[in-house]
Amino acid sequence: HLDWQGKHVTVAGLGVSGIPAAKALHARGAHVTVVNDGDDARAREQAAELEALGITVRLGDGATLPEGTELVVTAPGWKPDKPLFTAARAAGLEIWGDVELAWRLRGPDAAPWLAITGTNGKTTTTQMLASILKAAGLRTAAVGNIGVSLLDAVLGDEQYDVLAVELSSYQLHWAPSLRAHSAAVLNLAPDHLDWHGSMEAYAADKGRIYEGNRVACVYNVADKATEDLVREADVEEGCRAIGFTLGTPGPSQLGVVEGILVDRAFVEDRHKNAQELAEVSDVNPPAPHNIANALAAAALARAFGVPARAVRDGLRDFTPDAHRISHVADVDGVGYVDDSKATNTHAAEASLAAYESIVWIAGGLAKGATFDELVAKSAKRLRGVVLIGQDRALIREALARHAPEVPVVDLDRTDTGAMLAAVQEASRLAVAGDTVLLAPACASMDMFANYNKRGDAFAEAVRELGS
Ligand code: ADP
Repeated sequence: HLDWQGKHVTVAGLGVSGIPAAKALHARGAHVTVVNDGDDARAREQAAELEALGITVRLGDGATLPEGTELVVTAPGWKPDKPLFTAARAAGLEIWGDVELAWRLRGPDAAPWLAITGTNGKTTTTQMLASILKAAGLRTAAVGNIGVSLLDAVLGDEQYDVLAVELSSYQLHWAPSLRAHSAAVLNLAPDHLDWHGSMEAYAADKGRIYEGNRVACVYNVADKATEDLVREADVEEGCRAIGFTLGTPGPSQLGVVEGILVDRAFVEDRHKNAQELAEVSDVNPPAPHNIANALAAAALARAFGVPARAVRDGLRDFTPDAHRISHVADVDGVGYVDDSKATNTHAAEASLAAYESIVWIAGGLAKGATFDELVAKSAKRLRGVVLIGQDRALIREALARHAPEVPVVDLDRTDTGAMLAAVQEASRLAVAGDTVLLAPACASMDMFANYNKRGDAFAEAVRELGS
């Protein structure tokens, strides 16, 4: 336990993590200075609230390291190559993210962490896990990159038996000493490479989640990179590598046998070599990538000692969040599905794989991605494509290379009204039995505030179409 009294801490970034971090450190007697790039009305309001407590806030200058700083606590999204961090590293200072701070302040004492990361499926899997833990009668919450922040969870009044923790690659980058009870990396595909600098650096940050695990490191049998990360991790003695697979499970794996989710890693009955957990139809929606998510959640729950029945009940109780393969409506025999959360190619590939004949709405901010693999793999399912957003030419070019016969409507628009036009164009291309799928494979910020707004605009457009 650290002595915070009089320690000079610089908190980088106001916002969801910076404000609770500044307050928690101030309450422990630290001298806190918050630095923030922005200087807008909202930032001023937040600054005033902190200043009233006696915390120093510098708006419009997130680059300069305040004199006398002994520790930097950063918002997870701040890029490691920022001048503030260069200065901090040159001064030999530690840099912690919000997760590291939560861990150091009270992490291990609050409750064991079952941690989840991966390129896609984090939120869904974390919520499934929380649902399973609740079904087992445990006091728990889905925290971290979703819902409650880790600081609030570990410092709040609520008592937990165990936490289901979603961690982003950014959070893991800034969390050097975190030690989970057990952890899972769901999958690894290129994303956020502009932030991490390279695929190797991205994978290494994700792999941090396994460091020091006590009971289980859960990996995806179909994604060898996740297994490699387990092998490279330094774990506690006795910690097991547990795989999940959509196929028949081997020893120390969970998998699927004739429509049943089966556990061959944590078997209670000594005379059996497998334990039935739930039926595939208990998973909502039962798309292949989501069954994988359910298996990963089950693996972590089982590592914590949860009985099979709770896995089944928890999966049945679970409903996915909005904009994740959400069925919006059927219009003239065509299904309209909102997967606005498919903000990268790996996610879009999973949702395109869940339907047979698709009119695909795609485009937005590519974040440095390429689309050849996605388009080549999905070409045979495409009835047509409607493109929107800033980087749509990258997708158009990939379509020309790998699916030249598929009709493409390039809307050449980035205004918010483009979504209505896109849905109308898609409805013209679709025939009864098809699915119009919004799975943009891109971020939304060129056209919308976030992926929620993009999905809402899609649903609104579909309603207009039907009326
Ligand atoms: P995250 O929190 O990692 O962004 P979500 O659970 O919110 O993940 O799902 C985001 C999107 O990723 C979904 O809309 C879906 O398109 C896709 N997805 C979900 N699970 C998987 C998976 N296991 N593999 C690939 N894609 C997935």
